[in-house]
This record gives sequence, structure tokens and C-alpha cells, in this order.
Amino acid sequence: GYMVYKVLMRTIGIGDFTMYVNATYNFSNSLSSFLTTFVEFRQMCRYLDLYIQFEQIPSRYRDGNRAVKDLNEISIEFKNVYFRYPRSQDYVLKNVSIKIDKGEKLSIVGQNGAGKTTFVKLLCRLYEPEKGQILINGIDIREFDYDEYMKLLAVVFQDFKLFSFTVKENIAFDSANGASDEKIEDALRKAGLYDKVQALEKGINTSIYKNFDEKGVELSGGEGQKLAIARAIHKDAPIIVLDEPTAALDPYAEYEIYSRLNDLVSGNTAIYISHRLSSCRFCDKIAVFDKGEIVEYGSHDELVDNSKKYREMWKAQAQYYI
Ligand code: ADP
Repeated sequence: GYMVYKVLMRTIGIGDFTMYVNATYNFSNSLSSFLTTFVEFRQMCRYLDLYIQFEQIPSRYRDGNRAVKDLNEISIEFKNVYFRYPRSQDYVLKNVSIKIDKGEKLSIVGQNGAGKTTFVKLLCRLYEPEKGQILINGIDIREFDYDEYMKLLAVVFQDFKLFSFTVKENIAFDSANGASDEKIEDALRKAGLYDKVQALEKGINTSIYKNFDEKGVELSGGEGQKLAIARAIHKDAPIIVLDEPTAALDPYAEYEIYSRLNDLVSGNTAIYISHRLSSCRFCDKIAVFDKGEIVEYGSHDELVDNSKKYREMWKAQAQYYI
């Protein structure tokens, strides 16, 4: 308004008028974007604060410093383990004692909420037992260096995650650069996903999902699960844990995986959690969990003949197949 007044009064010309209006416009734009950035910056600082607080929480699980180099054949022992989740009243695991010998394949069965996944989480040192001990070859797992200890385990959890990277990176992770394609293909073959990946234009270098690559592939639930299993096979760790490994697989794929189980895990110590009891026949020992306790333990044949719970569960499932 002031500039228009100035033009009408003939104090400034049209050229000056355009210049001043432009300058004012630019100034107000810069000022408003400066303020917006300032507000965003303050907002981001609040997120950063939370992250800094999170980083400052000391880890209670990283005390040990023992290396694991000499551990190839692994036996696992749970000794009178009690555990309850933080802020929970009831014990989720009560007096759990079990020994898994070198190279043994243990199947864990039981109803939902019986404590099967919690058992695996304790073995993975995601939590610590409240009472009792977990031993690997007779050594308390808390004595091991945490990162070293992770090298012992290849775990496929029920809620595994795939990343928007290539198939190869999803299998080998940080070692993807040095990983041999043959080893990756071998893991894919053992998990039954090789043909699917081979048929893709870029093979093992195809991206998963389309977030970063328009030509990325969307895997089905079962295919994703096979990829997660391939990841565990590739890691070739001395302990393999599969939590509901075949929940999303079709019956053929499930049969294929289980009948080749011994091949897949070779001489490693393995733990499977499964609701399909047919899979237990492929394992050396079965532990039946009920309300946080191991109520029955033995081989499939022993339990079918002499147990109560396992026999009931076996019969309940078998009636749909016979
Ligand atoms: P399962 O694998 O046999 O189905 P879980 O080990 O997952 O059973 O769970 C055992 C019990 O622990 C359940 O009652 C469940 O509600 C409880 N639980 C599992 N995870 C947590 C958690 N993070 N916090 C508190 N309670 C939990």
C-alpha cells in the first residue's frame, strides 16, 4: 500500500516499485521459512532428546567378556529357571530344568501362552532369568561377551522381519559384500526358495519390496518365511532355533522342510517350536510346556505311548488326517 501511495505521489517510478515489492515479498518468504525451520528444529530436538535418553540406559546384559571361539559342539542346560516379565506378577517360566545334548534336536510343544517363546527369548539373552541358570557347555551364558554369544545363535522368530534390501543382503546382512553367491544359493536351495529367486530378472540381487526399487519383489508370507529360514541356514551357527518355522508354509513346503531337517541343521543343536505335532517325529526329544512348566519330556514314541498331554494333543491333530 505504501509503495502504491509512493507511485501515485510520483516519488518513485514503476521500476523502483517492482523492485521494492519483490524485495518485500522475498524478505517475508525467507522470514516465514526461517520460522518454519526453527519450529521443525525444536520439534526434532525433542525426538533427539528421547533418543539420547534411550542411548544412555545402561545395558544389563553386556557384562560378560568370555569369547566363544572354541565352542563348536554345543550342549544347553536350563537349571531351575524362573522368569517373569518386568512389571508382571506371575511367573511365565517356573522351575524349568532341561538338558539339550550336543547335536540334539528338541521340539517344544504346548498351548498358546505356555511359555515356549519366552524359553527361547531367555536363551537368546533378550531377558535374564530371575532365578536359576542357563548353561552352554557348562558355562553360564551371562559370562559370554554379548556380541560373541550372538554368533552362536541362528534364530527364526515368528515375527521375523525382512528389509527393503536385496535377497542377498537379507540373507548375509553386513557380510553381504564378502559373501559367496554359491553359499547364498545353497541356503536358498535348502530353504526351498531357490527356483523362485532364480526366476527373477536380477536373481539374488533383486530387492525385496518396492520402497527403494520399482522392480523389487513382494514375497508371500510363506516365501518370506523361507527367506528367513535361508538366513538362519546361511549363518551356520551351532545353535538353530526355529519358532513356528512353518506356520505360513503350505503342506508340501512344510513336509519338505521337515523331512530335510537333519540336512538343514546338519550336526547343530536345534530347537523347534511348533503347533504341528507331525513335525515332532523328526526331532530327538520333545518337551511339553504347560503354564510355564515342562510337564512331559521324551521321544515321540515314548510320549505317544506313555504320556497324557502329548498323547491328547497328538490324537486331537491326528483325527483330522486319518
Ligand atoms: P507361547 O510361545 O507358549 O505361546 P509366550 O512365551 O509367548 O507363550 O508367553 C507366555 C506368557 O507370557 C503369556 O501369558 C504372555 O501373555 C506373557 N508374555 C509374553 N510376552 C510378554 C511381555 N513382553 N510382557 C509381559 N508378558 C508377556
